Amino acid sequence: MARSQFNSVADYLQIPDGHRDRLLYPKRAITISVPINMDNGEMAVFQGYRVQHHLTLGPTKGGTRFAPNVDIGEVSALAIWMSWKCALAGLPYGGAKGGITVDVNSLSRRELEALSRRYMQEMIPFVGPHIDVMAPDMGTNEQVMAWFMDTYSMYQGRTVNEIVTGKPVSSGGTEGRREATGLGVAHLIFRSMERLQLKPSDSTAVIQGFGNVGSFAAIELARQGVKIIGASDHTSCYFDKRGLDVNAMVEYAARNGSLKGFSNELAFDPAQLLVQPCDILVPAAIERVIDADVAAKLQCRILAEAANGPTTPDADAVLDQRRKEIFVIPDILCNSGGVIVSYFEWVQDLQQLFWGKSEVLTRLRGLLDDAFSRVMERVEKDDISHRTAAMAIGVDKVAKAKATRGLFP
Ligand code: NAD
Repeated sequence: MARSQFNSVADYLQIPDGHRDRLLYPKRAITISVPINMDNGEMAVFQGYRVQHHLTLGPTKGGTRFAPNVDIGEVSALAIWMSWKCALAGLPYGGAKGGITVDVNSLSRRELEALSRRYMQEMIPFVGPHIDVMAPDMGTNEQVMAWFMDTYSMYQGRTVNEIVTGKPVSSGGTEGRREATGLGVAHLIFRSMERLQLKPSDSTAVIQGFGNVGSFAAIELARQGVKIIGASDHTSCYFDKRGLDVNAMVEYAARNGSLKGFSNELAFDPAQLLVQPCDILVPAAIERVIDADVAAKLQCRILAEAANGPTTPDADAVLDQRRKEIFVIPDILCNSGGVIVSYFEWVQDLQQLFWGKSEVLTRLRGLLDDAFSRVMERVEKDDISHRTAAMAIGVDKVAKAKATRGLFP
């Protein structure tokens, strides 16, 4: 998907063939073996990865995913998307991504700590605050980032907060990071609603995925008057035309670890959730949930891609035909609030000068508004899809930086 999207943007930007590989192929792709002692006395070796896509604009930046399906291809695609996302938001980073092929639910807390620390220890030769800065992704969280930071710091002999972002506030994290991605998604939905002259109090939303991103987006949409009529996670799915009680769902998920058992009465078929009539559809879970078939059946006015890569290239072709009906907020714009506030965390750590939450969120809205306006201008100027416009701005920025820096030696 990353390669096919890049090629269509490169066609539109008329990037010569000889320059495409330099823009697309990762600068570094690192594979490591991560051995740890398990609780049962056995030793186990896990496969870990880190891909650093390009180093043209500054250090690389990107999350670390602990999941059973992680491989070098998935990590590379996610690193490439991060590059276009950072460039679109105007951040001084190339994209990166890393991960370990592991089911975190099968590990004890001690095993997870050992795996996290050994992964960071193996990565020390390849990362650094001005080389590559890690962050959380699926299967990792603030605690894992605190272990990464502590491990790196122990080897340096001093505290190096700026080696990772997404840390707890007590360990050099920033106010506002936890809610940044979901709030950013909601902010861009409201910007889109203004353009479409939709009123929050007359609008409905369906949210797939009720983790960090989905739940904060749901809370903010509901707070501003949008009726949330459908929501799901990997265990269960609920739908109610009269509106779901989002705060009760968030509390329930926090207490029970998932939405399983929230209500028998409101249970709904998850396969039908995305195609229900609604004003705003927010896929906030996993990749490739909208294929060509689903895209043809969508009945939303705004598709806010909170997850990374929820829409396949085939679905994109369908959405392109339906451009006048469905307003797409493409993933690299929609969920960029996360990396923007990660960037703020890195800046604060480097300066050892910390901002309050309102300053963080005001600056976040400023960068999102700027990126949103630039995407809309490009769409109007060239009559292209929102995704092509967003990616073109990102790819163009990296291509121009490579061209002006030239090729060493
Ligand atoms: P998370 O692990 O906190 O939550 C994921 C949610 O998706 C969970 O509620 C899970 O139950 C649900 N889910 C998984 N499979 C599902 C399925 N088949 N159907 C319905 N729900 C399902 O993860 P997150 O941090 O909220 O990330 C969600 C997406 O947003 C991912 O694609 C991630 O890469 C992307 N993203 C996250 C951030 C961030 O700051 N957290 C930033 C940018 C992009």
